[in-house]
Amino acid sequence: MRGYDVFSYPCDAEGDFMFMHNKRLQYTVRVSEPNPRLAVCLLEQFGGADGELAAAMRYFTQGLGEEDPGRKDMLLDIATEELSHLEVIGSIVAMLNKGVRAQLSEATMEEMELFRMVGANGTSAKESILFGGGPALIDSAGTPWSANYIDSRAEPTVDLRSNIAAESRAKIVYERLINITDDPGIKEALGFLMTREVAHQKSFEKALYSIEDNFPPGKLPGIEEYANIYVNTSQGEGDATGPWNSGDQWDRIDDLEKVMPIDGGDGTASVQLEADQAAALQQLAARGMSDPSGDPTTGADLGAGPGAGRTKPVDVDLR
Ligand code: MN
Ligand code: MN
Repeated sequence: MRGYDVFSYPCDAEGDFMFMHNKRLQYTVRVSEPNPRLAVCLLEQFGGADGELAAAMRYFTQGLGEEDPGRKDMLLDIATEELSHLEVIGSIVAMLNKGVRAQLSEATMEEMELFRMVGANGTSAKESILFGGGPALIDSAGTPWSANYIDSRAEPTVDLRSNIAAESRAKIVYERLINITDDPGIKEALGFLMTREVAHQKSFEKALYSIEDNFPPGKLPGIEEYANIYVNTSQGEGDATGPWNSGDQWDRIDDLEKVMPIDGGDGTASVQLEADQAAALQQLAARGMSDPSGDPTTGADLGAGPGAGRTKPVDVDLR
C-alpha cells in the first residue's frame, strides 16, 4: 500500500479508455437541395454559444472532474452524444454547401459569377473565402467558437443548473432553425436533435434533485434572516405581487428608508489602516482637495458658443 489514496478512472470490461468513431451518424441526414444560407444559420448549433461543440466540451470537462460515479457516467454519456450531434449538424452544413463549395474550389464559373456568389444569400465572405464552405467552428455570424461559452464551476449543484439552462437554450435555438426551413429531411433531423436536448434537460434535472440539500448551492448555508426577504426596490405604478415576492415564504419590504441598511448599521464603508498607509492617504486626499468657494474660468467658458448654456462671462481681448 502506498501512503496516499489512488483515484482511478472507471474502465469498461476490456479495460479500454478511448473514443471510438462509428461511421454511421446518430440520425440519418437527408438534405433535399443545397442551401448555403441555411447552412450559415445552422452553424449556430455547430460552433455557436448554445451549439453542440459547446455542449460536448461542457459535459466532458465536468465529467472528468466529477466525483460521483453516477453523475460522471451520465456526463460522459451525454458529452459523447453531443459530439455525435456535432457530427449530424456538421454533416447537414456540409450537404447544404456541397455544390457551392465545389464550384468555388474548381472555379467552374466565370470570375464575376463566382464573385457574386461570395457573400450572396446571407453567407459571409469569410465563410466562403476563408472556410471554403466547409463546416467551420463558427457561429451564424462568423464568430469563432470560444471556450468562454462554457461556464462550469466544478460544483454539481451549480453546474447542473447551468446545464439545465444550456439544454433549454439549445432546444429553443433548434426550434427556431426548424421554423426557418421547409426541407423535410432537415426538419426531421433537427427535430431529433431538439428532442434529445429535452431528454438531456430531464436527466440533468433528475441528477440535480438526486442530490439532497441541493439548494442553496455549495456548503455554506444562507443567513436565515436575509433568506426570506423580498425587497421592493422598483416602486410605483406596475408594482405587482406573485409567489416570487408574496405569501408565507416572503417578508416583503416596501419601506426602504426604514430598513436600509438592512443590517442595522450606519450604512457607511470603513477600513482600519496602518499608520504609514493612513499618512499616505491623508497626503493623497490633501493633494486632490477641491475648493468649493472659487469659480475658476475654464476652457468651456473661453470657447463658449451657441448651445453652451450658462457660462462665466470672460474678458477676452479679441484684437
Ligand atoms: Mn445536442
Ligand atoms: Mn444536450
